[in-house]
Amino acid sequence: MERRAYVAGNWKMNLDVEGAIELATAVARGAAGSLARLDVGVFPAFVHLPAVREALRGLESGVILGAQDCYMGESGAFTGEVSAPMLKGVGCASVLTGHSERRHVIGEQDELVNKKTLAALGAGMQCVLCVGETIEQRRAGETDAVNERQVRAGLAGVGADMVGRLTIAYEPVWAIGTGETATPEDAQNAHEKIRGVLGDVIGAEAAGAMRILYGGSVKPDNAGELFACPDIDGGLIGGASLKAASFLSIVEAGAGA
Ligand code: PEP
Repeated sequence: MERRAYVAGNWKMNLDVEGAIELATAVARGAAGSLARLDVGVFPAFVHLPAVREALRGLESGVILGAQDCYMGESGAFTGEVSAPMLKGVGCASVLTGHSERRHVIGEQDELVNKKTLAALGAGMQCVLCVGETIEQRRAGETDAVNERQVRAGLAGVGADMVGRLTIAYEPVWAIGTGETATPEDAQNAHEKIRGVLGDVIGAEAAGAMRILYGGSVKPDNAGELFACPDIDGGLIGGASLKAASFLSIVEAGAGA
């Protein structure tokens, strides 16, 4: 099944507002020629979303704007939280859920990740659900079991009308921000297994249509070989998305895959 590639930049808690506008503008200009062949997304910090939205809008860019998290409720007494409808209201099209830093630094569990995923999809937004094993789990041979558990839990209650807006990102925790990348063989193997689990949960056809991105120290010099793997449909990029030149060269690798 032919799946449209997707390369997304997770800017994490980086940049000031001017830097975010500058980077978004450079990405939109640089990616414009590739958008016929793949989807490109940027995920700035909450406070920069309106400014980045304006920068992308000004260029009539087709770059997807996403948030790095959302709360599971729609509104109410949840001090400090931001809901999916609020994000949609400022022009966000997508939300990341279950990123490893939220799971392992902030302490989010599968059940909460699922609620956030349902909140984003329920608001009519796209969602990128991140899964992946820690180094200890990998050493214990638990990679596929962890991915399976996180995928099954993350998709609980996701209806047939929602699956088309969901993307999975496989991000081995030990590869995020470390400079260590899974080999294309290891990544492909994990993606293939994840697609098998998806098939069991949502059916073979929907699983065949769902994009699974790889994330974890993707750089211009390794993007091509990763994206060439049959079950790797693009990447979620952290560090290398903070410089327009390196992100755009990864976008090019995605467009060519
Ligand atoms: C990420 O934050 O999702 C990520 C993959 O980071 P990095 O590319 O820096 O490893």
